[in-house]
Amino acid sequence: MKNYSKSSVIKAPLKSRIFRIVSQQAALKNVRAFVIGGYVRDYVLKRPTTDIDIVVEGDGMELALAVASVLNVNTSLFRNFGTAMLRYRGMEIEFVGARKESYRSDSRKPLVKNGTVEDDQKRRDFTINAMAFSLQENDYGTLTDPFNGLKDLRDKIIRTPLDPDTTFSDDPLRMIRAIRFATQLEFIIDSDSFASITRNTARIHIVSQERITAELQKIMASRKPSIGFNLLEESGLLSIILPQVASLRGVETLEGKGHKENFSHTMEVLDNVAFASDNIWLRWAALLHDVGKPPTKHFDKEAGWTFHGHDFIGSKMVPTIFRELKLPLGNEMKYVRKLVQLHLRPIALVNEVSDSGVRRLLFDAGEDIDDLMLLCRADITSKNPKTVKRHMENFNLVSQKLIEVEEKDAIRNFQPPISGEIIMKTYGLSPCREVGLIKDFIKEAILDGKIGNNFDEAWKLMKQRATELGISEASA
Ligand code: ATP
Ligand code: MG
Repeated sequence: MKNYSKSSVIKAPLKSRIFRIVSQQAALKNVRAFVIGGYVRDYVLKRPTTDIDIVVEGDGMELALAVASVLNVNTSLFRNFGTAMLRYRGMEIEFVGARKESYRSDSRKPLVKNGTVEDDQKRRDFTINAMAFSLQENDYGTLTDPFNGLKDLRDKIIRTPLDPDTTFSDDPLRMIRAIRFATQLEFIIDSDSFASITRNTARIHIVSQERITAELQKIMASRKPSIGFNLLEESGLLSIILPQVASLRGVETLEGKGHKENFSHTMEVLDNVAFASDNIWLRWAALLHDVGKPPTKHFDKEAGWTFHGHDFIGSKMVPTIFRELKLPLGNEMKYVRKLVQLHLRPIALVNEVSDSGVRRLLFDAGEDIDDLMLLCRADITSKNPKTVKRHMENFNLVSQKLIEVEEKDAIRNFQPPISGEIIMKTYGLSPCREVGLIKDFIKEAILDGKIGNNFDEAWKLMKQRATELGISEASA
């Protein structure tokens, strides 16, 4: 068996000019410098990175300034944190003085003292993030790996370097980072570390929502986001940070009848969507598509379990959830809200796949019809292969019909053939209720297939409706 903790096992080539320069400048200042953290981890994993963290046993800002002047680039100094950042050839290089930390119970912000690189490695979140490459002339590129991070990397394990209760309680954001790395890298969280997360969930309250949400977004962007949301649920964190989704968990049984387990169903839908699309907001729509189920759940002797109106109630919950998570409240939120609201529509059409039903769906979904259909297809999950087959056949029927109607009527980007302007001009009206009535009447007639989506038929209908409303043409 190889002993991976031996520092000579890996030697990074560190050929790049930037590392040479940092090394030379550190030598001139007589301080030790190391490449540490994510860069080292990703180097071993052969994952591409553009972030480099340099830890210095001394003043990080001073070394950064010296390096920047050789490279002839600017440095951003963050004096409050004693850190500095510079950009070079698409790389972001951050310099920080090695620290020794002690924590208070009410804050993520530690009391910081200068320390050695070994001290600094102890305050890192995970063994795989605590490795460093030396930039000293005499052992250039040698790995320092005090916590066997290399072994954990090979075994695909996320583990805290110190007692997990200390690591997580000191900075509870690390609990979500553990789950994020487990999702991104598809690693397992060591059982002691995971047990500690379940014990420390309440500490998440001292972490800012922005930091939590940034981690959630990274989970969401991963190949298989369910890994993260399952771990969040299992650890108890989800019921604190996203209770609306956590309440999907569980099956109630009454009179021998149970309902679908909505949390695992949601996880399946989320992964189905993630497999088909990188669109992070479509993934959010998948995560939230059934959040209206717990509040609408109802048991009836005849019907059994129902969730009537969960699409509508769910869509109403979306803005609140986005606000709580500090996610953007503009078009992204509206898009998710719309998809949640419409997610049942394509399948509901199946009972009667009429042209007008399809036209209405196209009109309501607009630009987002393809995403809606993707979500709807992803939503077809069941343990029963016959049920899946039946739903898929229906779904395909609706898809086919959509294509036909699209070709015929071009409703997707529906622009009324008669605009409000034309109506106002024709009848010498200023903006008023009647203009809206006529416009709506035309739109409804088109969607119902009573007239075609063209100017001539719409013009005729406008005249007819105006007469009915007792409006006469402008004399001018
Ligand atoms: P990525 O850049 O993909 O998010 P990363 O590991 O580089 O991954 P960063 O947030 O950039 O993560 O942090 C860089 C390094 O700083 C980490 O590898 C880790 O050593 C350390 N680190 C970051 N956040 C924490 C934290 N909350 N507690 C302890 N160490 C941390
Ligand atoms: Mg990084």
